Amino acid sequence: MLKKCLSTLALALIVTWVASAQDARTVVANASKAMGVDTLKTVQFSATGFDFALGQAPNPSAPWPKFIEKSYTRAINFETPASKVDRVRMQGENPPHGGGQQPLVGEQPVSQTIIVGSDTPWVQQLEIVLMPHGFLRAAAAKNATVETKTVGGKKYSVVSFLGDNKAKVNGYINAQNLVERVETWIDNPFFGDMPFEAIYTDYKDAGGAKFPMHIVQKQGGYPIFDLTVTDVKANAAVNIQPPQGRGAAGGGGGAPAAAQATSEKLGDGVYLILGGYAAIAVDFKDHITIIESGQSEARGQAVIAEAKRLIPNKPITYVVNTHSHVDHSSGLRAAVSEGPTILTHQLNKAYLEKTLSLPHTLNPDKAQQNGKKPVIEGMGEKKVLTDGTHVVELYHLQNFGHHDGMLIAYFPKEKVLLEADGYNPQAPNATPPSPPSPFTLSLLDNIRRLKLDVDRIVPVHYPADNRVVTMAELTKWVGRTTTN
Ligand SMILES: [Zn+2]
Repeated sequence: MLKKCLSTLALALIVTWVASAQDARTVVANASKAMGVDTLKTVQFSATGFDFALGQAPNPSAPWPKFIEKSYTRAINFETPASKVDRVRMQGENPPHGGGQQPLVGEQPVSQTIIVGSDTPWVQQLEIVLMPHGFLRAAAAKNATVETKTVGGKKYSVVSFLGDNKAKVNGYINAQNLVERVETWIDNPFFGDMPFEAIYTDYKDAGGAKFPMHIVQKQGGYPIFDLTVTDVKANAAVNIQPPQGRGAAGGGGGAPAAAQATSEKLGDGVYLILGGYAAIAVDFKDHITIIESGQSEARGQAVIAEAKRLIPNKPITYVVNTHSHVDHSSGLRAAVSEGPTILTHQLNKAYLEKTLSLPHTLNPDKAQQNGKKPVIEGMGEKKVLTDGTHVVELYHLQNFGHHDGMLIAYFPKEKVLLEADGYNPQAPNATPPSPPSPFTLSLLDNIRRLKLDVDRIVPVHYPADNRVVTMAELTKWVGRTTTN
């Protein structure tokens, strides 16, 4: 009886699936017809609006910080498929607040070319697949299914297929047969299985096809683009060639940043770890404390391994996190899998607890595999870590626009200050910005307020030439001649 029930159920599932697949073909065909997918082989459009820097919010409760898209032009060939974007960015937050290399001085041209080939990463292909016409083309080529969903009182046919990264790609098709929203998930070293979605509204006729005049892309729940389309040319003669010269290789895929760690002794039991985002390991009497863990799980693991090599047979009890930006917190995933407590400013505590607990099923890292949960401790304005011999003073920076919950680490015996994103040294012959970055000025103001006697700065964004950065270099960079 049970067997019979099961086989009936299995049959029912197969029938439903076949019906669903057939329905999906009909839904996709109807939407394709309404939107002119067959006629729209290429498109070129211009827009103005904003882009936003993922994971660089000024504090854990704010959206990603905004930049102005002074101009934005994109050409897409749906048949190749290929896409080329040329845009000009400007500073959008005034006063500067948050990361993403703020303040952006003047105009910054950005170009991105994607020509889909057999080795093009899925995340790049998504730039075309997430477009309404790109989605319908992909849905027609894959084993798409459909279900009906009501969202916000509105009924949609939701067409789904599996992306190359094994995440679902869902397209929301409205009663007018227009694609209103496409969503999927991509791997991010900090945010895990991160939602990536695009919302399309204000459809207009474009040479017999329908094209959205408002495009919003979101990653991690907040916008990364908000574009108002000003001009659409259907079937424009687009000629997308591989980029030449700088950045030509593979459209920015590239190898992950070097994770090999090298080290330098800064003083008794205090070690600077280089070879990526800088970190410091401290040899306390019966334990190790690490300050900063880098931009990736691999870098976090390399920092931890180097600390253990330098200071054998002691447990790592603390990993200090300067602030919760994605590039300073992705290495914390390595700390989570190892077990030490993560110490950060209290503003970041709940955010790191939540974010470091997110699932990483698309590309499982070690913390995902061993199931360890983050242990986070928040601190206020000042905390001193000492065993009676070694001393590390942690301070919260005040009025620091890059991040509201930023910590610095001061080593009074060594007169060393570790800082993140207050002063990111450039090449020795670089011209300082005029006026100086408000973040650099704020760092200096805080050093004075706290009366810290600093000889050497350890910027987490260490200079490419690995030079020793002095307090004198920092004051000279902002045009000040005296310190303290
Ligand atoms: Zn930052």
